[in-house]
Amino acid sequence: MTFNPAILPETPSPATVRAFLFSNEKEIQLDQKSVPLLPPDSPLLKNAIYLGLLDNMPCYTARLDEATVLPTGYESGDIRSLHGHFEDELYALIGYASQILTWSENHQFCSRCGTKAEASEQERAMVCPACGLMNYPRISPSMIVAVTRGNELLMARGHHFPEGLYSVVAGFVEPGENLEQCVAREVMEETGLEITNIKYHSSQPWPFPHSLMVGFTADYVGGEIRIDPKEIADAGWYTANNLPEKIPSKATIARKLIDHFLSSQHPHAGATR
Ligand SMILES: [Zn+2]
Repeated sequence: MTFNPAILPETPSPATVRAFLFSNEKEIQLDQKSVPLLPPDSPLLKNAIYLGLLDNMPCYTARLDEATVLPTGYESGDIRSLHGHFEDELYALIGYASQILTWSENHQFCSRCGTKAEASEQERAMVCPACGLMNYPRISPSMIVAVTRGNELLMARGHHFPEGLYSVVAGFVEPGENLEQCVAREVMEETGLEITNIKYHSSQPWPFPHSLMVGFTADYVGGEIRIDPKEIADAGWYTANNLPEKIPSKATIARKLIDHFLSSQHPHAGATR
């Protein structure tokens, strides 16, 4: 699959276009369990935003209001739980469509002078015709880190986590700090532990609505676990043979970091659940 983002559609439009239709910020509309194909003049594409070409097929995204009557066979799917249902490139495009749509909806007016903003015809931006302020799609970096102490992994659970679920420590980057400083600060704030040897591992866009998760590994240096009860509900050290009851799904970078820890303990092994 090849996706070429673009601002303005080419003309003439082909007989069908790919439609990323969202009913709210969590749900995408599916047709026979796939992303719908529609004629370009479909009423469902009223107010749609053009995204570009996917394998030469024009792609649009739009928000459907509650009054919209969907054709027979349509169903809504939870965006986050559809990971694995589509091939990776198409799933990434669903996230992109969701983020561009939400961003566009949230930047309809200039945040400096309040004038109605307009979509730029040159780049993905909302432009103020009065004062010229430009708003681009926001990407908010957040870090996530697997901290190890010998054969143990530091895991914690947030107050909003499903029952029994533990993950590795994560948090948003603050203005003026680099990623390594963010990693050290979040681990200290949430668990009271000092860490070292902070190394980049991998990253994952999480465009719901606009995060980029940056994954790290680190080693424990010192301190006893003292959780910040405002931030997390519990934290502890876990060995490969004694993981918490529930860990994040394979779709997540958290799981990639946990599996990385597991494979360092038992080469070629990963959690099976
Ligand atoms: Zn303005």
